[in-house]
Amino acid sequence: MTGLSPADSPYYDAEYETMSRDRLADLQLELLTETVAFAYEHSALTRKTWDAAGITPADVRSLDDFTEKVPFLDKDALRRFRDERKDPYGGVLCRDQSELTAISSTSGTTGDPTLVPEVWGGGFVGRPAIMYRDFWGMGVRPGDHVALFLFTFRGPTYGFVQQLGAIPVLFDYGVDEIERLLRCSLQYRPTALYNFGGSMINATEEIAARAGIDPRDAFSSYHAVVFAGEPLGERARRLADAWGIELFEHSNVGDVTACFECPAHDGMHFWEDMAYVEGIDPLALDHRDAQPVSGDRVRCELVATALSNRVAPLVRFRSDDLVEIDRSPCVCGRTHARIWTIGRKGDEVVVQGASVLPVDVWAAIESVEACRLGLFQVVRPNRESDELRLRVGYQDTPEGRLGSLVEEVADAVRAAVGVEPVIELVANEELLRLGPPHKIPRVTAR
Ligand SMILES: [Zn+2]
Repeated sequence: MTGLSPADSPYYDAEYETMSRDRLADLQLELLTETVAFAYEHSALTRKTWDAAGITPADVRSLDDFTEKVPFLDKDALRRFRDERKDPYGGVLCRDQSELTAISSTSGTTGDPTLVPEVWGGGFVGRPAIMYRDFWGMGVRPGDHVALFLFTFRGPTYGFVQQLGAIPVLFDYGVDEIERLLRCSLQYRPTALYNFGGSMINATEEIAARAGIDPRDAFSSYHAVVFAGEPLGERARRLADAWGIELFEHSNVGDVTACFECPAHDGMHFWEDMAYVEGIDPLALDHRDAQPVSGDRVRCELVATALSNRVAPLVRFRSDDLVEIDRSPCVCGRTHARIWTIGRKGDEVVVQGASVLPVDVWAAIESVEACRLGLFQVVRPNRESDELRLRVGYQDTPEGRLGSLVEEVADAVRAAVGVEPVIELVANEELLRLGPPHKIPRVTAR
């Protein structure tokens, strides 16, 4: 498959990517109407939730109807349904299990992993969007090699690269694979790398030096290196800059679709023919209490509805993610909205009245040489706390120097957030054992 536009176009699908906001709103209403009818008919959890609220798809004739009447779904509802009905898909699967072609899962950083059922080639309606448009925009073209550094989401990523006419070069996500990635990069000259986060970039410095490889040579063929899941610290950014890497941030939009930075690097676009996204007041009790947050770039909680997924569409999924959304045009020419992720609602700790999210202390911790991998946890038994407790990973420090390392970390954190932290140091290897292989929970109760 090639793009719907010529190879020299910056857009994979110029017509849809630059569609007017009015046309986009019409298209969304049309897709939303189809989605709610489909989900109500085929998803046991959606039907149960709507029945409890006393509505049917016939009650949803406009976008206003949708926001006023349709109840939220959340992760807890899916998990409850899964456990009560012994349904591994949490009541959202709309197909017979035998029709599935693959099952992947979320990484499970903040709870049990959620299963993601897939039907390759037949799971979506509408025009090919997710990742095709984004990778094309980063400069990937048919015939290119694309390096994939993957954990649980192998299926769709592998397939979409092939569909785009590019050749996936596969790696497992882990520090042990970095040397092989560097060697293969010199050999196959890939044009994109997905996905390579801060701890991997930080680890590359040492591994490349040991292997006698100059990262600037290894990464010189790449137009784009995509990172996801966690904010990137200044140290990783500095290294990437020095190696000539153009970084693109990527995230998910309420488990409904993906978002990627465009070449303008000013927020991540999500495709609004794939997802209907709302920003609500994070403290709202339920849909009747949830005033839409108006204005661009206002901190809000993200609620998303799948518009083209016909395998396991989520309808009005309340994500617990704090974001900012901007629907104004982007300088890249795309008209679809952009998003900035701030953190998870449940990750906030209020210390002596000051709100602290992991992102607020990240750069401070990474700035300390022995803590440069940026591995840490906020220890938070309750949302409100008298002290900011941090468990911080370190390396290369003899026992006798740990006391001064604690002080160095505390100084950096205090300067960043204005609160005196209580620091517990833990060896990096030990901290890494706490999480799924690629990242650790950033907030923990104990
Ligand atoms: Zn843009």
